[in-house]
Order: sequence, then structure tokens, then C-alpha cells
Amino acid sequence: MTAQESIFVSGANGYIAQHVVKQLLEKNYKVVGSVRSESKGEDLSKLVNSKDFSYVVVPDIAIKGAFDKALETHPDITTFIHTASPVTFRVQDPIKEIVNPAVEGTKNVLNAVKEHGKQVKHLVFTSSVAAVKSPKPDLSKILTEDAWNPITLEQVTDGLTGYSASKKFTEKALWDYVKKESPQFKVTAVNPSFVFGPQAYAIKDKSQLNLSADIVAQVFRLKPDDKIEPFAGVFIDVRDVAKAHLAAFENKEAIGQRLVLINGAFSTDLIADIVKKNFPQAQIPSGDLARSKQIVKEKVGKSDTSRTNKILGFDFISVEKSIIDTAEQFYNE
Ligand code: NAP
Repeated sequence: MTAQESIFVSGANGYIAQHVVKQLLEKNYKVVGSVRSESKGEDLSKLVNSKDFSYVVVPDIAIKGAFDKALETHPDITTFIHTASPVTFRVQDPIKEIVNPAVEGTKNVLNAVKEHGKQVKHLVFTSSVAAVKSPKPDLSKILTEDAWNPITLEQVTDGLTGYSASKKFTEKALWDYVKKESPQFKVTAVNPSFVFGPQAYAIKDKSQLNLSADIVAQVFRLKPDDKIEPFAGVFIDVRDVAKAHLAAFENKEAIGQRLVLINGAFSTDLIADIVKKNFPQAQIPSGDLARSKQIVKEKVGKSDTSRTNKILGFDFISVEKSIIDTAEQFYNE
């Protein structure tokens, strides 16, 4: 890299975004991150602790023109990484609280880059495997980068279906825009499965982790007589997710692609088993590996994301290493 390029990261205080920021700074990029308040910006600046990091306040991505000023005042930004989106299943009105802000937020990013970011060469959009497959997929089908979640807005009834639809309709809006507008910037979507792994920086409050990190933390918090809630899905480590966000704009082969990030299946029983074997001090119940195998067979479909893996060209962190590193931080820091 020659001159120091500036990269914008929306939702910079998020779980995934903090790793993106950290890796960008490690590679000598300048980073401008958006957060929802001054105090969140100050907290993040303290954690990041770099002269190359600054923040702007964008209180709500869904408000028209949300990113205009940020881009006007930072004409040096050449890549926009859009991670901000509601990540919650706990809502009263899933369309109003999840789908609409996600879709409107992305439209605001696209308009801002078009009107106020003429120098932006690349937009990286954090989508999800939720945009690729239904939460209850047809297990006879092999999932690839070409698949789309068939969910309709009429099928949105709760937080889970709302989140699922938010990722599908937001990513659709992105590719529709690219087709219609042929913008000056290149676009890449990153579609992670359930994201686990340690927090990028020190944890302020272990009871306040984001949705996916908390799936793992819930197992860490179990008492010896508690029952493990059976749950399974597909997984990727947060450090690989961040790495893929950088590859999305650094690697020409990623242009116009959906990078679907899956490194096999996990279950809550498997997580408990890994913790028990590696952290004898953790007084949690034992994971049942037979039950784990069964639930994975019943709930988790097959996938072929070799197109993504070939573009990225690096090995993913295993579920064992991911859980061990997360537990190390959770129990010992
Ligand atoms: P996170 O920690 O909850 O981060 C979400 C970020 O978005 C936060 O900075 C949040 O700000 C911001 N945000 C949400 N709604 C907003 C709004 N209306 N206006 C402004 N900012 C808003 O979640 P994450 O897991 O890192 O998720 C980041 C991205 O990855 C999301 O697009 C998510 O859909 C995607 N993803 C996540 C996973 C996963 O397993 N974690 C898997 C696939 C895809 P506050 O913190 O201030 O609320």
C-alpha cells in the first residue's frame, strides 16, 4: 500500500466492526467509524487507542441523509464498510424495528456514497447467511453463494423472521441498486453464518454481549445442574469475518461477489464439551456429543461455499480454537 487510505466503518462499536477496525489499523489504514453517540465514540476511541482512528456520530442510520455529512467532511474515504444494522430478535414490531431501519439505512449509505463520496471505490456490505437461507432450510438442498432466503414480508411474525427478512431485503436492495444505477464504486457482500470468537478489545460488561457472542456466553454462564438448551447452526470465527471484510475490497476477485462464510456446524452441546475439556475450572454441565450429532443432522443443512473459500484463499479458524479463545477471554480477563 502506498499512501495511507481512509476506510469508513458504519456501526464501528459493534462486535464484528471492532475486529474490522482493529485489522484495518493493523494494516496501516486510517479508519473513520460511525457510532450512535458521542459517549460510544469516546469509549471506542479509548479501546482502539490509535491516532489513525476517528469517529463520527450517526444517531440513526434510517434517517434520510444519515451519512451525507460524514462523507462530505471526509473526502479522503475510498472504501465504505457498512456493518450497522439492527441485530436483535427482541422487538414488538419486527418490520418497524428491524426490517425498515436495515433497508432504509442501506439506501441512505448508497445515496450518500453516490452524492457525497465520488472518490469511494468500493462498498463492502455486511449481509448474512440469513439472506442466503431460511432459518428452517430444506435439508435436501446444498446451499451455495447463489441461494436466496425465500422469506416474504408477509411471513415476518417475530424477531427471528424479522431479522432474517431484514438481511434478505437489504441485500436485495443493494444488488438492485447496482443493477439499476451501475455506480462508480464496486460492491461486495459478506455473508457470515453465526459469528463466534473473542471480542476485539477488553470486555466492558460480560452480561452485555451481542446476540451471537451471547449464544456462547450463555453456555459459559451455566451452573453444574443447569440444562443445556439444545441449539445448532453453522459457524464462522469473528476474526475470519473481519479478514473477509478486508479481502472484500483488497482482492479484485471479490468484486461483485457474495462471500458466504461458513466453517462447519456447531451446537450448544459441542461448545460445552470444548469448554469442559479445556477449562477444568468451568463448573458447567457436560455437553452431550451424541445429542449434538443428532441435532446437527436434523437442523443443519449442507453447504458448498468453495467459490468464497477460493477467493479468500485462507484457512478458517476452527470451532475448537474459536471457543477456547473466547472462553480464555471470558473466564480469565
Ligand atoms: P452488533 O454488535 O449488535 O452491532 C450492530 C451495530 O449496528 C452496532 O454498532 C449498533 O449500534 C448499530 N446499529 C444498529 N441499529 C442501528 C441504527 N438504527 N442506527 C445506527 N446504528 C445502528 O452486531 P454484529 O453481530 O457485530 O453485527 C454487525 C453486522 O453483521 C450486522 O449487519 C449483522 O446483521 C451482521 N451479521 C452478524 C452475524 C452474527 O452472528 N453476529 C452473522 C451474520 C451477519 P449500537 O450498538 O449503538 O446499538
